Amino acid sequence: MKPSLEHAIDRLATPLPDSCLTGLQDRTAALRAIADQLVAEADSLAQLMAQEMGKPVSQGRSEAEKCAWVCRYYADHAEAFLADETLETGRAESFVTHAPMGIVLAVMPWNFPFWQVFRFAAPALAAGNRILLKHASNVPGCAAAIERIITQATGRDDLLVHVTLPGKEVAELIADPRTAAVTFTGSTQAGRQLAAACGQHLKKCVLELGGSDPYLILEDADIAHAAATCAKARMINNGQSCIAAKRLIVAAPVHDAFVELLRHELSQYEMADPLDPNTRLGPLARTDLRDTLHDQVQRGLATSARLILGGKIPQQPGPWYPATLVAGVRRGTPLFDEETFGPVAAISRVHGASDGIELANATHFGLGAAVFTEDLDLAHRVARQLKAGTVGINAQVVSDPRLPFGGTRESGWGRELGRAGILEFVDSKTILRE
Ligand code: NAP
Repeated sequence: MKPSLEHAIDRLATPLPDSCLTGLQDRTAALRAIADQLVAEADSLAQLMAQEMGKPVSQGRSEAEKCAWVCRYYADHAEAFLADETLETGRAESFVTHAPMGIVLAVMPWNFPFWQVFRFAAPALAAGNRILLKHASNVPGCAAAIERIITQATGRDDLLVHVTLPGKEVAELIADPRTAAVTFTGSTQAGRQLAAACGQHLKKCVLELGGSDPYLILEDADIAHAAATCAKARMINNGQSCIAAKRLIVAAPVHDAFVELLRHELSQYEMADPLDPNTRLGPLARTDLRDTLHDQVQRGLATSARLILGGKIPQQPGPWYPATLVAGVRRGTPLFDEETFGPVAAISRVHGASDGIELANATHFGLGAAVFTEDLDLAHRVARQLKAGTVGINAQVVSDPRLPFGGTRESGWGRELGRAGILEFVDSKTILRE
């Protein structure tokens, strides 16, 4: 192993608390200090994100503030989440107690370069773990800033250390006996390889993978609200979100009106400098990602799909791609089967709710989904049948520190956030006395 990696793991290998409750007050105070620093630096962190991966600064500032929120959320709730649980068995004592696992390797993506790290790091640190961060190679400044903020705010350099290495070399860190467990957020393809390495070394892992979220717009939906919500849910982070509204499945009676409303909404997203506070659509993160997206659009248009808006690479330097709307998308074609990571909305037409559910479930993914209807009973029935980790009813899928978040099927396993998130990286122990 390279000396820099050895050194990073050595720094993290300091003694752990014997229980998640030992020293908890110090750790929750540390989380509050981290939150304060994130808020104080929100503007400069937003600029860093804009420069490294093109996120508009208004969204980068919100991302930094959301990281502060998740730190404060776990500072407020960790004690209750991690408390010993007494179970009635008729014995003198029987209870479950939790202890930190140790060094957790976090392999993270570039698209929400702060949020993806903090939504794992806040509960993991609250529980008493250490974090070895391998961030995406295109956001080195964000990785360094995260380590600096945690070190400065807590006065400790053994809580989170970032390392620089290509993704394909991560297996070496998984194999190291000092790494106790792994959390991964990224593509399904890389997640498969990482999970295989974890399997080989029998290390627990949480996988937050790709998605192709279906949004189902039924005949009785408020289609103006649905179109506005779908546009927002598709365009967040320049369209590069795991839980973006990627496939819009629309009941035939409202199809044409919905397409027109959505075309109008999407045409409000003009490409502009991500450092300008008014910008809503910046460049994509890398040219290779933009070219992959355009290739998907081209291959889609070679099938049944028809272009309503955008779809052309602009004549300007940088990985720009316009807000794009494609209708007539069928299953078995690229814009339906593959995850599109950019500002491209794909519309399919269906007859009604049962057709819609079938089509919504007809991919390998299962991250988020949404249904739009004024009939609440129907909405609940549909929500239960959609194969997804989160379903929005007349609402966009979002991640919220208070709610468990994660995928089913090829979108991953395990949960982040809420109580479920903090319990992923603890060793639970049952203690009994006759
Ligand atoms: P990615 O290419 O899979 O990379 C993610 C991370 O994995 C990076 O740090 C990368 O390092 C590393 N990596 C690449 N190949 C690897 C391998 N074979 N073994 C281990 N690690 C490897 O994904 P991305 O392009 O950064 O992110 C976009 C994807 O993430 C999308 O599919 C999106 O849906 C998904 N995502 C999911 C969630 C969720 O919560 N479910 C959230 C955000 C994003 P290098 O940069 O060095 O290659």
